[in-house]
Amino acid sequence: MQSYNNHREKLTLLKEKKLSLTENAAFYLDRISEHKDINAFNFVFEDSVEIAANIEKKIHSGNHGRLAGMIIAVKDVLAIKDKPLTCSSKILRNFNSIFTATAVEKLIQEDAIIIGKTNCDEFAMGSSNENSAFGSVLNPIDKTKVPGGSSGGSAAAVAAYLCDASIGTDTGGSIRQPAAFCGLFGLKPSYGRVSRYGLTAFASSFDTIGPFANSLEDIALILSVISGFDEKDSTSARIEVPDFVTQPDREKKLKVGIPSEYFGDGLNPEVKNRVLEVIEKLKNVEAEIIDIHLPHNQFAIAAYYILTTAEASSNLARYDGVRYSYRSKDSANLNDLYTKTRHDGFGDEVKRRIMLGTYVLSSGYYDAYYLKAQKVRRLIKSDFDKAFSIVDVVLTPTSPFTAFSIGEKKDDPLEMYLSDIYTTSANLAGIPGINIPIGYDLKGLPIGLQLMANQFEEQKLLQSASLIDNLLKQE
Ligand code: GLN
Repeated sequence: MQSYNNHREKLTLLKEKKLSLTENAAFYLDRISEHKDINAFNFVFEDSVEIAANIEKKIHSGNHGRLAGMIIAVKDVLAIKDKPLTCSSKILRNFNSIFTATAVEKLIQEDAIIIGKTNCDEFAMGSSNENSAFGSVLNPIDKTKVPGGSSGGSAAAVAAYLCDASIGTDTGGSIRQPAAFCGLFGLKPSYGRVSRYGLTAFASSFDTIGPFANSLEDIALILSVISGFDEKDSTSARIEVPDFVTQPDREKKLKVGIPSEYFGDGLNPEVKNRVLEVIEKLKNVEAEIIDIHLPHNQFAIAAYYILTTAEASSNLARYDGVRYSYRSKDSANLNDLYTKTRHDGFGDEVKRRIMLGTYVLSSGYYDAYYLKAQKVRRLIKSDFDKAFSIVDVVLTPTSPFTAFSIGEKKDDPLEMYLSDIYTTSANLAGIPGINIPIGYDLKGLPIGLQLMANQFEEQKLLQSASLIDNLLKQE
């Protein structure tokens, strides 16, 4: 589709004047309007060509940032000054942000071009992008299928070549699962690695920001740029950010843990066989495969949906019709204003989660649900601590199945929640995870493999991911 495979190659072409950045930006804008049916974007920034002209000058003068000319789409839950921020919700439909999220600011400082804001599930709640006030997003690989969620627009935009890379958020799998469904690399960093300042909160102790791209090199580059301590986010970690692009050679054999709990009932046989095939290949090279156990993973979905809904019920209390955007008309009094605004402004899934969250926090039920789920979270973390005392990375499928049909699970929330069976545990434990595209099923739909590493070990995660990627390139 493009004459370059990653940003390094693009920058070389730009420097040698073999590629014009303004033409490249115009090309993407054209493609976005040609592929409107995919519905990947909530807003497109037409001034991208002008910005490209300025950055092109910087490139030719040799005075440019690390992402110079990279065209990036940003999920519409991240703030960009003077641009709309809707979270794909009616309740924020006319809201413009007054500041820029740190992660986006860092991209801009390195001369990336933000081409638009991508569609997603409302407030990032969902696994199919069907819960959006802007409508569903289609999977570019097969337009009868969902792209995954909640960062479905970000994944579809990269898969349809509407931009070079994109930014999504992952609270329970929303980067890794859509990356798997669309055949891309998608990385969820450790909790605390990337500042959440300017990210609209869904579940504050779970939310993370990360990249989607067609190459691991671009994933590593974007991660290097957006990572780091930020005094505007007290939960961002004061920890050194290595250059994720240049990876040191491994001295020892890579130890890969395979948790039997992730290969049981409910896993589609085609997905299972392909993941097992990759494991076999790994055995023949530099890796040692070790069977491990993550026994509390069976409680991950339950704990995730108790804790995240509890946090969401509190975070979403601020949308009251007084502040921010949408306000219902004709209310009799203040209480009525709150009720009508929230009734009309939020979609069904968001309301379901607010009610669930309020319930698990209510007196009488707090101990039975919220407190218990916190204890389960600790046990899940301890399982990983044990695992990482013997292995470098944990390898699993990313999703139990490939992309499903639009409408297939929409009316069955529990079925939908099961999409996240292999991804929520990383968010519960705060550890990084990545999706690696490893091939296709018989219907031609992408299959994804997940790697997880210990907290702040993104370097190891990327190293292991490239080992697998290189293995697959030799196939
Ligand atoms: N699909 C999960 C949910 O609905 C994860 C969402 C996310 O990571 N933002 O909560």
